[in-house]
Amino acid sequence: MKNNLINGEWLSGSDISLNINPSDTSDVIGEYSFASADQARTAIDAAAVAFPAWSLSTPQQRADILDRVGTEILARKLELGDLLAREEGKILPEAVGEVARAGQIFKFFAGEALRVSGEKLASIRPGVDIDITREPLGVIGIITPWNFPIAIPAWKIAPALAYGNAVVFKPAELVPGTAWALAEILSRSGLPDGVFSLVMGRGPEVGQTFLEDPRVNGISFTGSVNTGRRVASAAAGRMAKMQLEMGGKNPLVVLDDADLQTAVNCAVQSAFFSTGQRCTAASRLIVTDGIHDRFVAAMAEAVGGLKVGDARGDDIDIGPVVDANQLKQDLFYIASAQQDGCVLAAGGRQPKQHKHGFYLEPALLTGSTNDMKISREEVFGPVANVIRAHDYDEALALANDTEFGLCAGVCTTSLKFATHFKRHAQAGMVMVNVPTAGVDYHVPFGGRKGSSYGSREQGRYAAEFYTTVKTTYTSAE
Ligand code: ADP
Repeated sequence: MKNNLINGEWLSGSDISLNINPSDTSDVIGEYSFASADQARTAIDAAAVAFPAWSLSTPQQRADILDRVGTEILARKLELGDLLAREEGKILPEAVGEVARAGQIFKFFAGEALRVSGEKLASIRPGVDIDITREPLGVIGIITPWNFPIAIPAWKIAPALAYGNAVVFKPAELVPGTAWALAEILSRSGLPDGVFSLVMGRGPEVGQTFLEDPRVNGISFTGSVNTGRRVASAAAGRMAKMQLEMGGKNPLVVLDDADLQTAVNCAVQSAFFSTGQRCTAASRLIVTDGIHDRFVAAMAEAVGGLKVGDARGDDIDIGPVVDANQLKQDLFYIASAQQDGCVLAAGGRQPKQHKHGFYLEPALLTGSTNDMKISREEVFGPVANVIRAHDYDEALALANDTEFGLCAGVCTTSLKFATHFKRHAQAGMVMVNVPTAGVDYHVPFGGRKGSSYGSREQGRYAAEFYTTVKTTYTSAE
């Protein structure tokens, strides 16, 4: 059984959870011990005790630790990638890529630990110096979703530690395996006891304890909109700093002058890779009149050719969805779109030959409008709908007509439209002729409107959340 890491010790929890392979539900990956709320509080105690000394550790010490972690993750990417594909269901090449990404993130923040900078300004008063410096925030509660079991934990834990914070980390219930492996690597990296704790468990128990405990100075959360709202009200209620990444209903606009192959590649990758279970997935394909029919025909052919199967099988393009609930949700949205008058141009059925996994053929729906349920709510599965637009102006208006604002893509060969779209898309990330999903790790990640709250994650912008600014006035007299 795999236990929790609390104050440097591996402790069994109050409850056992089985980690099940969504490609084959008869495959039990392992037993994971879920902690109680009391154990979450013990981890927070330990973090609060460890924080003062750790906050004064040298940048070199932190850089060395993070670099060691990154090196080990990269060296074990095939093994950890296999575990990730087995517990989450994304295909093996994507899973190995995600593990490598986590390693690169630790290495990036190893460097950032050495680059924490400040400013020095002249005061308006004679003889006074002003220093503006950054200090670590304190104890950070990290709560992550199941869709990126190692990359999202990495992009929160690595900066938290790089800037000198202590961390209590709760991974998603469905994917404790990769999180446990990451914690095990961290436990051997040279971190003092209590600086990093892994507290596996249920959201309303362990997660809620992080939200409510006054010793947790900041909450970094990625997950659903509903839980995000809960996090926001709990954190705001006690004035804790928070950073939330939630849903998306990302548009990919395809204009008449787009290169058809580029548009189809962008749309297939954005909508269906990683089984569409990415907050950056493009689920609304907004296509102008002149290319609409050609685009739909080419998409139907491309989507029909995608091979669905075991995440660790040969030549598979799309793995299973993560669990029975998610499959039910995906099927519900497909049915709701059909009831609203949409047509399935490809996929959307459960393949017959797979009895023991949560498989779904990627679904392409046509004939949708932007006011349908399928266009308003995040499905979080391999489901995309095509919305027809008369021209660029209408396409842009439809793209922005959503409560979300994580990413927005456009496929066009026109500099004029590309330039206009980059300026006017109401999203945190804009992609021109590249998929909406699949981002770099050294630049900011995050959105606007209902997608995100608080400062950006990743790259050096991560410092905004994980540090607090101090302004110091000094007179020598
Ligand atoms: P998803 O199902 O997409 O992962 P959720 O928002 O349900 O989205 O879960 C994201 C993370 O939030 C998970 O780690 C989950 O356990 C956690 N969580 C769920 N409910 C709560 C809660 N009440 N308080 C804190 N964390 C929670």
